[in-house]
Amino acid sequence: MTLVVTGGAGYVGSVCAQHLLDAGHDVVVIDDLSTGHRDAVPAGARLVEGDVAAVADEVLGAGGVDGVVHCAARSLVGESAVEPAKYWHGNVVTSIALLDALRRHRVPRLVFSSTAATYGEPETSPITEDAATRPTNTYGATKLAIDHAIGTYAAASQGELAAVSLRYFNVAGAHAGAGGAPALGERHAVETHLIPLVLQVALGQREEIAVFGDDWPTPDGTCVRDYIHVDDLAEAHLLALDLLGQAGAAVAEAGGHLVCNLGNGTGFSVFEVIEACRRVTGHPIPARVAPRRTGDPGVLVASSARARAELGWKPTHTDLDGIVADAWAFARGRAT
Ligand code: UDP
Repeated sequence: MTLVVTGGAGYVGSVCAQHLLDAGHDVVVIDDLSTGHRDAVPAGARLVEGDVAAVADEVLGAGGVDGVVHCAARSLVGESAVEPAKYWHGNVVTSIALLDALRRHRVPRLVFSSTAATYGEPETSPITEDAATRPTNTYGATKLAIDHAIGTYAAASQGELAAVSLRYFNVAGAHAGAGGAPALGERHAVETHLIPLVLQVALGQREEIAVFGDDWPTPDGTCVRDYIHVDDLAEAHLLALDLLGQAGAAVAEAGGHLVCNLGNGTGFSVFEVIEACRRVTGHPIPARVAPRRTGDPGVLVASSARARAELGWKPTHTDLDGIVADAWAFARGRAT
């Protein structure tokens, strides 16, 4: 198939693009390189440099596109609180322009990068897709709005457009470059995610890691998250495209738009993650307890029963030390 990956110069997008190429597909990446990196676009993919809203019509209008994997997004929770316009325009308005282009050019498949942040503070754990969606931050609200928009476009298309929204939990780890290709991992100008920040301590790039609260109602008092390896995540996109190609019953039953959580189903606390990083790096990694971070839920763990049943997805890199080891190999490789 010929597939367009928006945000294919970013962390998740570049790994998805690589997996699609490895599976024999033709890949066109759309990325404005505002947060992504030109050298993260996998060799073999064609890069169209530009804003998704500006170039989608031209790229899809050229014809022959079988599907779009839409990863391009603004994704900093903290920034979304202070610069909402950047998120409503950058995520929602851009995605509507993409949906319009999909519809205009009759592109039949869409896989969308949604997020656990659409749920907010969960009432039950693990979280299933029918849980209430009450995002606690602007980032999550914009992703939820796009999920709603996709549902209406798919329903109105009368079968011409089918879509899967994948609600990512905590994406981590890195893709090891094969055959001399560069490894692909997290390279954010502003890093806010736990594992890369902890590894920065081990690299001597920061002195300690701040633990955002140790008074949560969890076994060790720190927040619990469901960490999923980026390679497992990318595989789910391929499976979703397969399912859409089969005009799968599950998608049709869902009105043309299926929502699936992606997580391992196992939670690890902030202290457990730091301990794993100590084991993997051999560095003592000093930690200091700091106040809670605004908008953080205490526990976010996915039920990925639907992804397993409908997509046939089975994560294979579920061991926390293994996930951290891959992130560490990537971080160390970049630092040398
Ligand atoms: N966290 C932390 N210190 C940091 C960064 C994150 O204690 O410097 C915690 C955060 O409160 C959350 C978990 O680590 O409970 C994962 O945070 P991250 O930002 O990686 O992902 P999120 O769950 O917010 O999507």
